[in-house]
Amino acid sequence: MSSPQNSHRSGRSGHDSDDDGYVPRTPRRTPMACTFCRGRKLKCDGRPTCANCNKRNIPCNYVPVSAQN
Ligand SMILES: [Zn+2]
Ligand SMILES: [Zn+2]
Repeated sequence: MSSPQNSHRSGRSGHDSDDDGYVPRTPRRTPMACTFCRGRKLKCDGRPTCANCNKRNIPCNYVPVSAQN
């Protein structure tokens, strides 16, 4: 009485891959702080010349977080 019930296989063996357009790594939008604000831990508004640098009349520089060190 050993009847192999293997008649349960459907034609296509594959999961429904419905995940289209899903990016696993979210592109982090860094609220860039300029070097001055970052060094002083100030709240940088992220402008080309932020308020802190503008107030002090110093050049506002932004360096990318990567390629540091
Ligand atoms: Zn700043
Ligand atoms: Zn600045």
